[in-house]
Amino acid sequence: MDSGAISKLRSCLNLNNDFYIKRDDLFPTSFGGNKARKAKLFFEEIDKTNVDAIITYGSSSSNHCRVIANMSAMRGLPCYIISPIENYKSTFNSKMIELFGSKIIQCPVSDVKETIDNKILELKNKSYNPYFIQGGGHGNIGTKAYIDAYEEIKKYESIEGIKFDYIFHASGTGTTQAGLICGKILNNDIKKIIGISIARKNPYGGQVVLDSVNSYLEYLKKDKVDIGKVNFIDDYVLEGYGCYNKEILDKIKKFLIEDGIYLDTTYTGKAFWGMYEYIKKNKIKGKNILFIHTGGTPLFFDDLEVLINE
Ligand SMILES: *Cc1c(COP(=O)(O)O)cnc(C)c1O
Repeated sequence: MDSGAISKLRSCLNLNNDFYIKRDDLFPTSFGGNKARKAKLFFEEIDKTNVDAIITYGSSSSNHCRVIANMSAMRGLPCYIISPIENYKSTFNSKMIELFGSKIIQCPVSDVKETIDNKILELKNKSYNPYFIQGGGHGNIGTKAYIDAYEEIKKYESIEGIKFDYIFHASGTGTTQAGLICGKILNNDIKKIIGISIARKNPYGGQVVLDSVNSYLEYLKKDKVDIGKVNFIDDYVLEGYGCYNKEILDKIKKFLIEDGIYLDTTYTGKAFWGMYEYIKKNKIKGKNILFIHTGGTPLFFDDLEVLINE
């Protein structure tokens, strides 16, 4: 199967809808996922410049930081990762970041901005030309990555002669969702794009998505849109980032066994469960529903022990 390919799911979740999945987890660099898709575009920009050091930000389980560390190492660029000290734990992603030779700088979450600014200044004083990539690959370049993904979805629709009524996915920094919404606006589509928040609550979470959408529309010199264009659902965040429950574990197990596809408790498993609950709650029936697998493969292995013991 091609990376990012779409296929129909065997499991119907007993919800009387047709389910499809887009496998962005198979994006071909550094264990894939939406962060690899975004990072590819960031590095296309970076490769055109004389940047000689990379700085970014993320937690110890961040897929974004793993991908950026890997892509920096591929180019022989030093990479600095600012990481909040709160809840820092060793994960497969953090181990890979070490393997790639990135320098992890831990600081309290309240000092993140200052720590980033200081690192940039320090590198400049040493005659480096550093490039800062926002946490999660946030920004217009990240948004563009999911406009491209939206075009792939359109292509699938036209080849297969179907239309998706809904797209569901895990929403974090909101960049993925912003790209999908921009893609929808640019195509004059009516499908519903439902971002299942994995951490943030409204109104903040939805507002960040909207700001990203409008930032991109502004760049295209198009009219801004309002919050009515954003479906950022915060009903399934539980106690916050990384928190999960027994139903999420059950969904992950069942999906792996029935469809052979792995999900994790922080992002995709949580969103998959949220999608299930949302469809039930809103009595959605007889629709074509696309779930975007946004990646996070290493996190599945972090979760394996709890899955077994569950
Ligand atoms: C970061 C991440 C998300 C959220 O993407 P955003 O663009 O930050 O909203 C979803 N799934 C996985 C696996 C991620 O790593």
